[in-house]
Amino acid sequence: MNSKPQSYLLFTLLALWLSCCSPEPEPDPVEMTAEPEAVPATEQVLPGESEQDLVARALEIHDRVLTLDSHADTPLRMIEPGFDMAERHDPNETGSKVDYPRMIEGGLDSIFFAAFVAQDIRDDEGNSRAKALGLQMIDAVVASAEENSEIAGIALNPDDAYELEMAGKRAIYLAVENGYPIGTDVSNVELFYDAGVRYITLVHSTNNDLADSATDPDGPEHGGLSSFGKTVVREMNRLGIMVDVSHGNDDVFYDAIAISEAPIIASHSNARAVTDHQRNMTDEMLKLMAENGGVVQLTMLSSYLRDIPDNPQRDAALSELRDNAKPASEMTEDERSAMRQAIRDINESFPDPSATVKHAVDHIDHIVEVAGIDHVGIGCDFDGGGGIEGIFDASEVMNITIELVRRGYTEEEIEKIWGGNLMRVFREVQTVAERLQA
Ligand SMILES: [Zn+2]
Repeated sequence: MNSKPQSYLLFTLLALWLSCCSPEPEPDPVEMTAEPEAVPATEQVLPGESEQDLVARALEIHDRVLTLDSHADTPLRMIEPGFDMAERHDPNETGSKVDYPRMIEGGLDSIFFAAFVAQDIRDDEGNSRAKALGLQMIDAVVASAEENSEIAGIALNPDDAYELEMAGKRAIYLAVENGYPIGTDVSNVELFYDAGVRYITLVHSTNNDLADSATDPDGPEHGGLSSFGKTVVREMNRLGIMVDVSHGNDDVFYDAIAISEAPIIASHSNARAVTDHQRNMTDEMLKLMAENGGVVQLTMLSSYLRDIPDNPQRDAALSELRDNAKPASEMTEDERSAMRQAIRDINESFPDPSATVKHAVDHIDHIVEVAGIDHVGIGCDFDGGGGIEGIFDASEVMNITIELVRRGYTEEEIEKIWGGNLMRVFREVQTVAERLQA
């Protein structure tokens, strides 16, 4: 009997299992150990401006504008016993990408902390577990801001971030990543709004009761938004919660943009014409986003920022592992866990080089070219797999501004990219809600 297909299936399942345990399907743990590289020599500077002067000018701009990161999965960390947001963590040792000291170091004024709940069983029990976990993470964020009220504060409206910035504090916004905690009960949308949530990412790595995922291995289930998903979008419009289409498949984007009365966002997505990944947005989608008045927030995941380079050594090691794998039916639990470790070891031995700040700003350039300067922003996805060479954690986000200045972006444009655009959408979403509630 040929056991190949069976062992191949097991291998695929294990690889899938490994990739499903983190917020993003592609977090590459090996990228987290990349050493930051020195900033390369300047290409476009003002006449007579030295590299030193350019960096100084960029840092002044970075300091003046409100900087807003629209997506971090840090609440996952905050519910870990002993994790303290007021403490500076070493990202190489702990994997942690955001805490208050590093936000201050990086000049990051405001952030959306997303309560991320991984998709699990879609029944009443699963739904209520998801809701409890989502609320637990929100409570942890609020508690952390209260415990550190001299350096951070919870923000609920666009103006709050500017006021907190003037007071020298970090503005902490709340979001939910994955509509799973809403379950099948639309009244939960208001419950999360009342808890402070100002955007909801409709779906995550696999389909849920609201929408199809861009990455579900079984393919689409609803053909975009389900009819319950459409009800949820209308309720978000009524309450003033931004509709986030990141992780949704293309049909979810088209459905959301057609149904939502307010502009929509993609809290952490990139340009597909630059990097061909189904999590990224096509030029047609970018143009529609511009017509809609919405915004695409660029994310710092290597696999969404550059084509995956050839890695023949890793491919060979993985195929050797696969060829020698036992059929699934013959594997003990210990052997399965050894298999998972072997895959992790191979990935660590033959890592892909990280994407760089230049790759990230190439995507910004493209979105600006296709959709315009008013429709792009930043959502790093720290603590959800995000972090690249030069933008490895919250302490390094100023490198985005330096590269934007290097490429000739003005302060006004940088202000839009770093939060002005998202705040415009946020205000419009609130205006629509006021109208719908009148
Ligand atoms: Zn995500």
